[in-house]
Amino acid sequence: MKTHHHRTAFITGANRGIGKEIALQLAQQGFAVFIGSRDIAKGREASEELCQAGYESTFIQIDVTDPVSVRTACGTFSQKADHLDVLVNNAGILEDHGETILKLNAEMLDRTFKANVTGPILVIQDFLEHLRKSPDGGRIINVSSGAGIIKDMSTYAPAYSISKAALNAVTKQFAGALKGDRIAVNCVDPGWVRTDMGGPSASRPVEKGAETIVWLATEAPQSETGKFWHDKQEVDW
Ligand code: NAP
Repeated sequence: MKTHHHRTAFITGANRGIGKEIALQLAQQGFAVFIGSRDIAKGREASEELCQAGYESTFIQIDVTDPVSVRTACGTFSQKADHLDVLVNNAGILEDHGETILKLNAEMLDRTFKANVTGPILVIQDFLEHLRKSPDGGRIINVSSGAGIIKDMSTYAPAYSISKAALNAVTKQFAGALKGDRIAVNCVDPGWVRTDMGGPSASRPVEKGAETIVWLATEAPQSETGKFWHDKQEVDW
């Protein structure tokens, strides 16, 4: 059955970490949420948790590195909803903590770019037809990182940091290409968050990591586009 009249949100990598929290907070605000997860069991479980808490949630399988999987996920979405209001490109990998660019492994660099850069591009391209049908104008939020800020960049996790700087460039490109289409495209540095990726020593809980992303998905003016945000403030690239 298709979803009518609801605000809808699709979040990639929503089976755990910041993505799962974004889904919860959007569901709490009345969104019908679509849990994108490459792992079927974990994705179903995350979605079921929300349904059992009384929210509207649907699991959609997606591996953002696989164009066929992205296309299939988009097809599945179109069977379940008649429009998309919010797309959050949250899925991401960090595999080169402690590595140096002097010895960077090319396969790892490719993997990182496929997940963190090419993936979000494919997802936006395919889901654009649904975002264009959003009555209030669509919103795309790319989950970036402080590691991608070029003015502060030094040697930390080179593949990851370069991929997030590239994701910021992807944000600018789509914001420019969609100017006049009522689709806002922004990126967010969530800060250092306690997840599998951030580790147990990280300074922020997932609630705080999701906060600015949810704000951009809901309260921020729809006219804000092509910007990089941290704690609801615009920050330099
Ligand atoms: P996490 O706990 O490691 O979760 C990452 C999520 O991405 C998982 O759901 C994972 O799915 C998914 N994912 C990875 N590759 C995928 C693929 N090819 N297709 C679909 N899903 C895929 O990380 P997190 O801390 O929540 O991070 C979420 C986002 O925030 C990432 O973009 C990350 O770069 C960014 N970020 C995090 C921090 C931090 O301190 N935690 C700081 C700055 C930015 P599986 O379960 O299948 O692996």
